[in-house]
This record gives sequence, structure tokens and C-alpha cells, in this order.
Amino acid sequence: MQTFHPPANLPTQYVKMGELRFRLFIPDQTIQDRIKVLSDQIKKDYAGKNPLIICVLKGAILFLSDLMKASEIEGQIDFVRLTSYEGTVSTGNVTEGMSAASNVKDRDVLIVEDIVDTGNTLNYYIKKLKEQEPKSIKLAALLLKPEALKFPIEVDYLGFKIPNFFVVGYGLDYNEEGRGFRDIYQLDLPDVGLK
Ligand code: 5GP
Repeated sequence: MQTFHPPANLPTQYVKMGELRFRLFIPDQTIQDRIKVLSDQIKKDYAGKNPLIICVLKGAILFLSDLMKASEIEGQIDFVRLTSYEGTVSTGNVTEGMSAASNVKDRDVLIVEDIVDTGNTLNYYIKKLKEQEPKSIKLAALLLKPEALKFPIEVDYLGFKIPNFFVVGYGLDYNEEGRGFRDIYQLDLPDVGLK
């Protein structure tokens, strides 16, 4: 898969949060078109399997919701809260604020995550899930930053590969702001040539 680059005709649009400015990067319709493709695949792969779908809070909530609607997949939903970011920086430590309550043993588990950056969060969580002996584990992630990846994470259903920039919107926050934007914005820094 190619790294996503915004189309040349994308309107120049900014949002400001705190001292930072973010620029429109992936528009709503592009996200929804890609989710439709992933949903068709997920629907086919999990037909008759009643998967356990574990959504990683908080960022993946909009992605989960749109995936569920587009695929009309039959399955159970659970949530886990994992945190590793402060502001625009990964701390390297994963904190589990809330655990999934479901019994994972012998289940087909589909993890739904917003973004894979270093891969630290999912490396931690997938290892933990494997100890509970699920039948299978697959991963759906909307975004992947291949240049930042430090752990061997394989994304089975990937929305977009993106460059190593901090992004907000569509569930993703900057210090708890910006989750409700329909579009995804990228941090607009002079030294990465975005102005
Ligand atoms: P990782 O453990 O892969 O380094 O980071 C994964 C988590 O960090 C994601 O679930 C997300 O919460 C947060 N994260 C990583 N990159 C970004 C980003 O560009 N923007 C935002 N808002 N969160 C990010």
C-alpha cells in the first residue's frame, strides 16, 4: 500500500488547538470510502464466526462505529482503554485504564485501533490477549505510521499508511480536543514543509 498523500485539489483548511495549528489531511469522504472496502472484507472473513470485537478507547470509537455500520457484522463488542501518549509525544509506557470484560478463550478476536505509531501499545496488548488463548487475533487499524514502527505489528485491515506526523480528528485527540472532527488533520509545522 502507498503512503497516503492528500489530493492536490484538497482545500487548505486549518484548525487551531492550544498553540498548535493543524491542516486538513484526510477528508471525511475518503475515510468513509476506505472503511467501506475494509468492511466488505471483514464481513466476508468473519461470516458465521461471531467474533469478539475489542475497540481500543478512546480514539478508535468513531472507526468502530463506522466499521460496524458499514459491515453489519454479527459479533460482540467490548472495550479496552490503553494510553501511551501525552500531548503529541509517545511516553513509551502503556497504561491499561479499563480492561475488556469478555472471556477471550477460543474466540475469534478482532482488535479495532485508531492508529499504530511505534506499535508499543498493541505489542503490549496482543501479548496479553494471547495468554488467554483466543482462537485467532486480527487487527483493524485506520492509520499506520510505518516510519515510526518499532515493534512487529501486522495490520490485517488497514485504512491508510501515513507519514510520521501527529494527526487529530475522527476520534484522535490532541490533549482530549479534536476527537469529534469528521476529517483528519495533521500537525502543521514549518520545518516539515507544510506551509
Ligand atoms: P503506539 O503505542 O503505536 O506508539 O501508539 C498508539 C497510540 O498512541 C494510539 O492508540 C493513539 O492513542 C496514540 N497516537 C499515536 N500516534 C498518534 C497521532 O498521530 N495522533 C494522536 N492523536 N494519537 C496518536
